[in-house]
Amino acid sequence: MKISLIIPCYNEEESLPPLYEELKRVTASMEEYEFEMLFVDDGSKDKTLPILKEMAAEDERVQYISFSRNFGKESAMYAGFCNATGDYVAVMDADMQDPPTLLPKMLEILSTGEYDSVATRRVTRKGEPKIRSWFARMFYKLMNKVSDVDVVDGARDFRLMKREMVDAIVSMGEVNRFSKGIFGWIGFRTYWLPYENVERVAGQTKWSFWKLFKYSIDGIVNFSDAPLKMASVGGILFTFIAMITMLVIFIRALIWGNAVAGWPSLVCIILFVGGVQLFCLGMMGQYVSKVYKETKKRPIYIVGETNKKDVVRK
Ligand code: UDP
Ligand code: MG
Repeated sequence: MKISLIIPCYNEEESLPPLYEELKRVTASMEEYEFEMLFVDDGSKDKTLPILKEMAAEDERVQYISFSRNFGKESAMYAGFCNATGDYVAVMDADMQDPPTLLPKMLEILSTGEYDSVATRRVTRKGEPKIRSWFARMFYKLMNKVSDVDVVDGARDFRLMKREMVDAIVSMGEVNRFSKGIFGWIGFRTYWLPYENVERVAGQTKWSFWKLFKYSIDGIVNFSDAPLKMASVGGILFTFIAMITMLVIFIRALIWGNAVAGWPSLVCIILFVGGVQLFCLGMMGQYVSKVYKETKKRPIYIVGETNKKDVVRK
């Protein structure tokens, strides 16, 4: 049995050495399995690539795919899935926030045959800014309401999967990728393994609040058309209100003949409805832009350098 570990890295020069040590320890304790460590360098600007090359030189299990520029974690994970050859495949962060020590346990659960994948879920958000946790919780609530996929609160991308599941992910070649949604959409029986949040070993997070916010909007747009429906419902509602108001004004003018009063409220209504219209237009723009990107069919990642023979390019 072979296990592929996919590790997306973006400017991880500080975390790679401790991670590699840990991986060596963990894999040594699992002798019955063959390992492949597939590091995807997502266009790092620091010494990540030279470090990977060093590791690859001394350990044949280490493989690297280096992108021509930064394509984002989603692209890096996809490149990993496309190139992993193991019977089991795991994705994990380079900063050890996804503890490799959980791997034996995950394998044990998978090998019972009852599940197709073991995913991990943080039960605490220790060490994370409060406001960020709050937004994250709101996002998961909203996402589960409006989309047709289940996204678990606190779910990490860290998971171990069977080959069948990986093939399913590879077959989803969409350009706008949102893995948490994709994992949920393809189905399969998933075991959720809870664990306490671990802070990154070294270096800094690559996700600013703004980047996360945009990512969450992407997630909703990619896996739900509820906002589009919301626009129609809003339109119907406003038409209805307008009809009632017209009737009221008409009758009032007939009885009292007072047609001039009320311009402040008029201005408010025009501004409000104008705002709602622009908002809906912008929302549709989000979907149009996704369609636009999808139709261009640009590659999801571009390989600049690799030590892998027959690397898959998608
Ligand atoms: N990452 C990546 N490309 C990016 C940003 C991040 O490959 O553009 C990788 C990063 O190297 C790490 C993982 O994605 O292995 C998670 O990133 P990070 O730890 O910064 O996110 P956080 O854990 O803070 O959400
Ligand atoms: Mg991290």
